Amino acid sequence: MRPQSLTPLFAQVTSLPGIGPRLGKLVERLTGPLVVDLLWHLPFAVIDRRNAPEIARAQEGEVATLTLAVEQHLVPRTPRQPYRVWCADQSGRLCLTFFNGREDYLKKLLPTGETRVVSGRVETYQGEVQMTHPDHIVPLDQRDSILRVEPVYGLTAGLTQRVVQKAIETAVARAPDLPEWQDPAYLAGQRWPGWKSALEQAHAPTEAADLLPQHPARARLAFDELLASQLAVALVRHHNRSLAGRSTKGDGRLRKQVLASLPFDLTSSQKAAIAEIAADLAKPERMVRLLQGDVGSGKTLVAFLAMLIAAEAGAQAALMAPTELLARQHLATIAPLAEAAGVTVALLTGRDGQRLKKATRAALADGSVQLVVGTHALVQEDVEFADLALAVVDEQHRFGVHQRMALSSKSHAVDLLVMTATPIPRTLMLAAYGDLDVSKLTEKPAGRQPIDTRTIPLERIDEVVDAVGRMLATEARVYWVCPLIEESEEVDLANAEERFRELRARFPDKVGLIHGRMKGPEREATMAAFADGRLSVLVATTVIEVGVDVPAATVMVIEHAERFGLAQLHQLRGRVGRGRAKSTCLLLYAQPLGETAKARLAIMRETEDGFRIAEEDLRLRGAGELLGTRQSGLPDMRLVDFPAHADLLEAARDDARLVIDRDPDLESPRGEALRALLYLFRRDDAVRTLRAG
Ligand code: ADP
Ligand code: MG
Repeated sequence: MRPQSLTPLFAQVTSLPGIGPRLGKLVERLTGPLVVDLLWHLPFAVIDRRNAPEIARAQEGEVATLTLAVEQHLVPRTPRQPYRVWCADQSGRLCLTFFNGREDYLKKLLPTGETRVVSGRVETYQGEVQMTHPDHIVPLDQRDSILRVEPVYGLTAGLTQRVVQKAIETAVARAPDLPEWQDPAYLAGQRWPGWKSALEQAHAPTEAADLLPQHPARARLAFDELLASQLAVALVRHHNRSLAGRSTKGDGRLRKQVLASLPFDLTSSQKAAIAEIAADLAKPERMVRLLQGDVGSGKTLVAFLAMLIAAEAGAQAALMAPTELLARQHLATIAPLAEAAGVTVALLTGRDGQRLKKATRAALADGSVQLVVGTHALVQEDVEFADLALAVVDEQHRFGVHQRMALSSKSHAVDLLVMTATPIPRTLMLAAYGDLDVSKLTEKPAGRQPIDTRTIPLERIDEVVDAVGRMLATEARVYWVCPLIEESEEVDLANAEERFRELRARFPDKVGLIHGRMKGPEREATMAAFADGRLSVLVATTVIEVGVDVPAATVMVIEHAERFGLAQLHQLRGRVGRGRAKSTCLLLYAQPLGETAKARLAIMRETEDGFRIAEEDLRLRGAGELLGTRQSGLPDMRLVDFPAHADLLEAARDDARLVIDRDPDLESPRGEALRALLYLFRRDDAVRTLRAG
């Protein structure tokens, strides 16, 4: 049960005065649906309105709060002209300027002959002192209410600074004083304020330095957020470990057969990964392990060998892919190898016919199928396994915690292996998963050659087309990626279609087009034509980013490469360089290049190492953006600022570990306080794992 004291924070934002249904929707879009969400929306700037000079001493460009006598309204004759109001003090005159100003409203706000206090940025225009759209206009008796330092918040269209400031002020005032959840010695060492006081300070900066991540109030709040997430992850893991696991030991017989049938040796990181997985499977505890490696590093093979361990032990294993295409691709890799070992493999996807699905389900339920590859059709309720020992989830780019859980709940004590092609920087990894066990594939399989990556200005596109022509003469296969430029899919599609038509005119019968709007079968037909060489150029929107495997493709052209993020460029480039032939990646960019885009392209030329690229990406973008992207599926951090708070992360992890060692059910007084912390950051999932939760 959530502590009673938190109830006011878990009310809807519309419970705040002044926030009706209309503003409520906007506030929800900005921060979230609940009052507590407003607490985490920290200001990004301060405005000091304590500067209150006379007009003659007001400096151009500075924010000033002036006390003015209203002299004259100049109502515009045409709607194009601004509405102007002349004001004065004893030192001089100033003009207030409003575009699209409404006469009745402004006459009420600024009655001629009266005194008003006005705050805003001072400008000069044609030799006159003026102020355009002042931030505040109040009667003299409210002067003190604006003569202060104001926090400035990020907004969304339709919301004003005033509304957001007021809402947040009320939310902060509603925050209760909560028992301290941090370790007292650590807190004292850091000289941090208590939670409530930190919250108040973070929302009441008085100078720019108060906005820095190192400020005690901000650091404290960041640590709270990190502690909540580390503790939540640790609790869930502790809970999973305490559940009965199973020990799965293979005799190596099937693996030996498969390895003997391969025309290559495993890389040493593949060998290490399999050894780690085998050791986990053999332990009586539940395995939750992440298998990380670039596209083409050989994850599927590792996963398959892990699945064979289950088969050797007389149990079953399942591999779940995010798309139909990928499921089929995995099957294509796995099926011949399984045959070599005499192991039965089935495919289960949503697109199979009812009869086939029913037969496959029956075979899974009676154990006659040992391994299964599929899409999320695998986690439907009517799918049962005779004895599922290992679930492998290929997440490519996304981290879908729910489906992962659903698959591992298909049988008790299922061990879980999660594959991802997204190299995640260590810091973010730790933030999202705590001490998750990770196996990394760091080498490329032998025989792969480095990809020749070049950056070329878009003006030289004709030369690029000529070069593609020469490559086609040598049977090369070429991806040509058109980016998302406009927000609208139609426009992007139009761009790709135009490029398609141009290239087809130049290379008749050789060019295909795929995009996200195409129906599955049509897309697969085009892919197949490209894979077997009937088409040699494949124009694509970014749909090919996810897991397309055509080892014969050796050229990747990316138009407007400056618009892509590093991770995306890296994923796209990973589509070539998969065979033995030498590959090329041409990054076409529009000039002028911004600093960040320039840095991104330079890194692409410099390295193919996905882990290094991920670290650089973090450095260039900041974690807020990396974490914020819904795509990544990583939990959203609102108060943490990486890399500035990276060392707090380690401390939070260590602290969470200590707590779990000493008080795994959070029953001590500090444990009670920590429960409130978990609720505050919506980690109810973790609280639910507690016996007395
Ligand atoms: P990932 O799943 O990491 O993208 P895959 O497992 O699909 O990579 O492997 C890509 C290709 O490399 C496949 O054709 C696979 O057979 C091949 N491969 C895997 N391991 C090796 C290796 N050790 N040596 C050579 N080729 C390999
Ligand atoms: Mg693969």
